[in-house]
This record gives sequence, C-alpha cells and structure tokens, in this order.
Amino acid sequence: MNNSLNLLFLSTPVGALGTGLGGGVELSLYNIAQALQERGHRVKVLAPEGSQLPPLDISTVTGALQVVAQTQERNAAIALPKNPVLGAMWEEARRQQDRFDLIFNFAYDWLPFFLTPFFQTPVVHLVSMGSITDAMDAAVLEAIARYPQRIAFYTRTQAATFGEVPETCPCLGSGIDLSLYEFCETPGDRLAWVGRIAPEKGLEDAVAAVAKTGIPLTVWGKMQFPDYWEEVLGNYPDAEVEYAGFLPTRELQRQLGRCRGFLMTPKWVEAFGNVTIEALACGVPVISYRRGGPTEIVREGETGFLVEPDSVEGLVSAIDRLPEIDRANCRRQAETEFSIPAMGDRVETWLRGVLKSD
Ligand code: UDP
Repeated sequence: MNNSLNLLFLSTPVGALGTGLGGGVELSLYNIAQALQERGHRVKVLAPEGSQLPPLDISTVTGALQVVAQTQERNAAIALPKNPVLGAMWEEARRQQDRFDLIFNFAYDWLPFFLTPFFQTPVVHLVSMGSITDAMDAAVLEAIARYPQRIAFYTRTQAATFGEVPETCPCLGSGIDLSLYEFCETPGDRLAWVGRIAPEKGLEDAVAAVAKTGIPLTVWGKMQFPDYWEEVLGNYPDAEVEYAGFLPTRELQRQLGRCRGFLMTPKWVEAFGNVTIEALACGVPVISYRRGGPTEIVREGETGFLVEPDSVEGLVSAIDRLPEIDRANCRRQAETEFSIPAMGDRVETWLRGVLKSD
C-alpha cells in the first residue's frame, strides 16, 4: 500500500514567503515541508505572490495582504481588505481540495478556522501565536470543540493563553535543519538579539540591559517598525547597538554563533521562539524572560537563564553569569530535542491520527 500523503499547505497571508514578514511561521512551514518530504509525502504550498523558498513547490496567489494580528487590540473585529489574498488562497484550496489528503493551515486568521467545516478534505491548523483578539480566540476554540484533534500549537504555554485546551491538541514544538547551524565554541564579545523589530518583541529591554553592562549588542531581524527602532535607540544613547539586517539562515547563524549570549525579551507570550533554538544550535546560551515558549526550551543554568519578565536588572545579572554555561550543552540540547526528524515524527503522528479519526 502506498502510504504517502498528498498535502496542501496554506501559508501565512501577511507577507510573501521568504521575506521574513511571516516571522517564525515561514521557518516552520519550510521545515515541516522538508521533514514530511523526507518521509516520502508530497507537499504543495499556496502562498502570496512573490513567495520564494526553494526547493518548495509553491503556487502563488495574488491579492491584498492581511494586517498582522500582533498589532490588533483585544476587541478588534475581523478585518479583511478589498481583494484579500487570504480569500483567494482559500478559494484556490477549495478548487484543488480533491487532489489532497489534508489541507494544512499556517495562517493565524479567523477565515481558515471558520471555513474548516465547509471543506470535504480535512483542514488542520498550526496556531502560530498566543491569544491576541477575542474574535480569533472564539474561532480557535470553536474549531477545537468541533475537531478536537485538528488544532495544533507550538507549546502548552501558548495553548493555555486560549483557555482550556484539551490534550487532544498536540504541541508540536519546532525543529530546524541542524546541518545549517555550526557550533561555535569560542565566541567574541558581543551579545545577540534576533527578531522582528516590533514592540511585542521588547527590544528596548535588551538595549537597556546592554546600556548598563557596556557590552555591545548586535540586532538581526525584519525591520517591521522603523519608528519603534528609532525610539528605542533614542532612549538609550549610551548603548552600543548595531543593526545587521535580515539575513538568510546560513549567514545569520555564522554571525550569531560568534556571540557570547542571546537575549530574548518578549513582551508577549512568544508561542515558541524559533530564534531560541537557532541560538542553541550555534552553541549560544539563551537569556530569556520566563514568559511563553522559551520557558519550555531553556534549561536553567545549563543552556541559559530564565529571568523574571520585564526585569532589566535580571537580564544584567544573567549576562554576568554567562561564563557558567558550557556552550556544548546548548548544541546538544538542540540536537536531541529540535532536529527536523524529531519534528517530523511529531507532525506525522498528528496527521495520521487526524486521518484515522476522520
Ligand atoms: N530570521 C532570519 N534572518 C534574520 C533574523 C531572523 O531568517 O536576520 C528568522 C529567524 O531565523 C526565525 C524568524 O526570523 O525563523 C523569527 O521567528 P520567531 O519564531 O523567533 O518569531 P516571530 O517573528 O514568528 O514572532
């Protein structure tokens, strides 16, 4: 019997794949596709126009991009622009659904959850962020009530932001292609911060901490909000901070690996925080607020430190303790828990379970 699955992936509608606008979802989609293809499954991706992520088989769809959920107020209504790419992607999915065993949604948006019962082919969802708006929470919880196995999260901490989420909803964690990340044993002097330059990522606290310690900080990531960046730099004129751009993984890991520590200072519940495991894979210890996904990743005193949320003093003390961490432990943790095959196992088990129950 041919056991391989035909899968249709629907990407995030907030930006083209490969631009970084989709944040960690882009890496997750790419890595999950790779993991499943390595197991003999076929993956086709629908994504907004301009998407490029070789060697994925991507069909692009035109239309206006969705606004990002992170900027929305809790009571925000569902928003769709004129000619939404999200609508066009799901129309395309509806047309093509007979050719696939499963449709896999990566969009953190109301419409795919609402449309799920209208499809003959089962639709599964990876919820990529914690709770942000009441309208989206309701859509996620209704989908869980109707299809308790079809909704996956990254971490339990993230799932809990939506309320009571049953154990039938798997937490997939994340995985990266470790061959792309080189272990760097002897770092230079700098600290690292990686993420979208956006208020929910809390860059200001990392900058405040390095202003106190006098250690230089390099920042990588999509410049989503340039005004926010200027404001942060303006508030800490003494901090030595350099912006090094949004780099492809190969280059990012080379530069990141040379850093002596990685600062993770989210103001929101980070669903997972792919950058955390990327840092660990390079041998870079992680200092993170004890908030969201990183709390389920960082091993206190062994691969980094978890700090009281929003405490710049806490960050400073943890920076002082960085020499206590053996960088080899960081790499080892990434290898055992966050490889592509480990992620592939979790995803395949989930998808087969969904198909069995349907
Ligand atoms: N990233 C990148 N190049 C950079 C900076 C970041 O490719 O110069 C990627 C990073 O590897 C990660 C993603 O951007 O995959 C950020 O994802 P994360 O889950 O940390 O946060 P999100 O943006 O989804 O909130």
